[in-house]
Amino acid sequence: MKTGLEYAIHLDEQDSLSPYRDEFYVSEDTIYLDGNSLGLLSKRSEKAVLTVLNAWKNHAIDGWTDGEYPWFYLSEKIGKEFAPLVGAKPEELIATGSTTINIHQLVASFYEPKGKRTKILADELNFPSDIYALQSQLQLHGFSPTEHLVQVKSKDGNTLHTEDIVDAMTEDVALIVLPSVLYRSGQILDMKTITQAARERGILIGFDLCHSIGSIPHFLSEWGVDFAFWCTYKHLNGGPGSVAGIYVHEKHLSKIPGLTGWFSSAKDKQFDLEHELTPAQTAGAYQIGTPHILSIAPLIGSLEIFSEVGIEKIREKSLQLTDYLINLVETELRDFQFELSSPREDSMRGGHIFLTHPSAASICKALKAEGIVPDYRSPNGIRLAPVALYNTFQEVWKTVQTLKAIMIEERYKKFENTRGVIA
Ligand SMILES: *Cc1c(COP(=O)(O)O)cnc(C)c1O
Repeated sequence: MKTGLEYAIHLDEQDSLSPYRDEFYVSEDTIYLDGNSLGLLSKRSEKAVLTVLNAWKNHAIDGWTDGEYPWFYLSEKIGKEFAPLVGAKPEELIATGSTTINIHQLVASFYEPKGKRTKILADELNFPSDIYALQSQLQLHGFSPTEHLVQVKSKDGNTLHTEDIVDAMTEDVALIVLPSVLYRSGQILDMKTITQAARERGILIGFDLCHSIGSIPHFLSEWGVDFAFWCTYKHLNGGPGSVAGIYVHEKHLSKIPGLTGWFSSAKDKQFDLEHELTPAQTAGAYQIGTPHILSIAPLIGSLEIFSEVGIEKIREKSLQLTDYLINLVETELRDFQFELSSPREDSMRGGHIFLTHPSAASICKALKAEGIVPDYRSPNGIRLAPVALYNTFQEVWKTVQTLKAIMIEERYKKFENTRGVIA
């Protein structure tokens, strides 16, 4: 197995995406492996934000229709840019809201309990915000979350089995909401098979793509996924709190969304200001109010990079990076109690890897003190995301060498094994 520095140098020389590193603000004295929590700023995003700010400066109210990126159409424009990343049609997509707001919107729209079909099926490994949203939606319908929210169990605490998910699709389930990639272990769920099973049973299904968009390809329309939602500040590098995304399958586009506002209107009717809503016949109907233009702006620049490179190339390099990282961990760190909790198979592994260790919190602090930015996940997880657009194989090599030194010299013992405010 090739794991040495020469091999990393060789992989970097072969890497056709290497020029893109210069497109980002990469600090040369840190190794940033947290792009799946907050992606780095690109120069194109910075430029787009300044262009939009200038439109405000120069056009004031007329910026809605004038300037380089008229604000009135920006959510739809960015929606269109999502298309190749999620495998959907432009009219099925919109940039709007935030992940958690969008779950509320979509569950308010697609959860229609009838007769004995009253339950929502989720899983026990999803990110808490998704679960809180599902619980409160059940409560709004007068149902007790303890009885009506079913969470598929994990056998090993890290991954889910497709059969367990399908077995939980019983006749009392009205709606399924699952992540595409688990935020801790990085496991990719088999969205195609799971969606097919849901459809055969007449259950609507939606996916949270927060950890997969911009990292792996999707074919939402073709798979027949009913809806999906995602944030844009992780792999899509949209910046803190950047505007999120919604996909709704075209067969549902005549439906009136659960939560409406004047931005749900057909665009040509919106300024008629009538009290009877004429909803857009696109996913644009899932917007509620005025879009957060300054938080959409970075996406103009960052999505241009994705459309230029293409998700297949990004996925190919991402797999090479995580594979190299896993090989290094298995050879260099085998004496130090690390456990790889991510799937080893390419087809099941998303864009990051997850190591568990009893001293994970102090190890993360030690890494940070050495200029390497990991992501600590309580109680014992270290998430490492080498990102295809801006990380290098040499950085992966150096990270593992540093980890090894931290363990051999027990440098991590200088730090308390507890988490900080965020990580
Ligand atoms: C990042 C993430 C969120 C964050 O939701 P926000 O509304 O953007 O704060 C929610 N769910 C999952 C699965 C995530 O990975």
